[in-house]
Amino acid sequence: MALSDLIDHSPGRRSFLKGLAAGTAASLAFHPVLAACPGPRLSMKSATGTEGECPQSVIKDGMVYRRLGRTGLLISEISLGGSPLPDERLFFRLIERGINYIDASESYENGNVERLIGRAFKTFGRDKLHVHTRFHLRKSFTEAGIIASAEASLRRLDTDHVEVLGIHGVEDPAHLTDERVQAAFEKLKAQGKCLFRGLTSHSNQHGVIPKAVECGLYDMVQIGYNVFDILETEKDVRTYGDYLGESGIRKLIDLAHGKDVGVIAMKVLKVGGRRQDLAARKDGGAALFQAMLKWALENVKLASVVTEILNESQMEQDLAVVGRPLTSGDRRTLYAHVAAHARETCHFCGLCQAACPRSIRTADLSRSLVYFDSYEKAERARAQVRETLAAGAVSACEDCGACERACPYGLSVRERTRRAASLFA
Ligand code: SF4
Ligand code: SF4
Repeated sequence: MALSDLIDHSPGRRSFLKGLAAGTAASLAFHPVLAACPGPRLSMKSATGTEGECPQSVIKDGMVYRRLGRTGLLISEISLGGSPLPDERLFFRLIERGINYIDASESYENGNVERLIGRAFKTFGRDKLHVHTRFHLRKSFTEAGIIASAEASLRRLDTDHVEVLGIHGVEDPAHLTDERVQAAFEKLKAQGKCLFRGLTSHSNQHGVIPKAVECGLYDMVQIGYNVFDILETEKDVRTYGDYLGESGIRKLIDLAHGKDVGVIAMKVLKVGGRRQDLAARKDGGAALFQAMLKWALENVKLASVVTEILNESQMEQDLAVVGRPLTSGDRRTLYAHVAAHARETCHFCGLCQAACPRSIRTADLSRSLVYFDSYEKAERARAQVRETLAAGAVSACEDCGACERACPYGLSVRERTRRAASLFA
């Protein structure tokens, strides 16, 4: 979707709501982004690179689009994770329903995710979608290797550029400013093959995100953020208790937002249970995972929530949260869920791994268990465990317990490590 299609040139925010059906408009009028937006426009550099005015958020055809930090891109507040994407028919329907941001990676589905996005470009036009695809920094990576990877992605996408090119799963903050990485980015940007730099981080967000923000090179970051990272206002903490201690994820979002770095949330539905089990749990008519999406979207510093939508029912359920406020009933449901499952939910903070004297990759193994338990991605979990175990055997564990003392959330790290290793080894 072209930026110009989304910008409302009328003087007031009310006009955003003009074209909406009355019921939808009534609910969207209370949307937290709109409530927090100081006005319909801010003076800033837009995605086209020209100095001008750009709105913080707009509504079009029932979808809310939020500004992705200094990129100026306006992206749907529900966006699509490409690991995997749905089949082509459903994918195209989701685009028709207003989703315009797709999260991809060279590694997803052997490149078929990028090929499918390429077919969407052909069908809907290149301007209809904003794409973030990523390269991996494998052992002994080179500038030429990064460029080759990005160019292979462009060929699969059948396009000459992506909006955001990112590094997949940054773990070592030093990689952010590595001269091989930055030389590759500079060349690709100079050739117009990517407009902005981004990244995801899974295992060491607390180490990676501050450096990504401070170095000033990255325009957006994708952060794991979900209701298990609860740390609300002081009043909420008094009311519900802070079950998890201070995760600090919210602080990372604040930090990025303060420098106008766009923030997208991922792993929002990382849950203490499978998605289909959660669908049956209702409170006040809202399914628990819908409440999780609303909880994340309530944070106005986020541009979007990346979610996987694989069937019609998930499409309807996820899109139903667009513009809907988190209710007090939703909040009670979420806190009860967190209370029940907090000690089995890994936050991917990486602190256990950093504390291990034997360099056992406890956090990576713990993440594999989440793929297995919550996402039912046994094959992906198995592959990840194999890769992890190749880097260091769990049998080297000396049972010192340092990992568990380091875990701020009280997880049984040793038990999780052994279970992951035994399940898939
Ligand atoms: S108990 Fe094992 S895995 Fe945990 S820190 Fe000690 S050596 Fe590492
Ligand atoms: S097990 Fe605990 S310390 Fe390790 S990554 Fe998960 S939440 Fe962090």
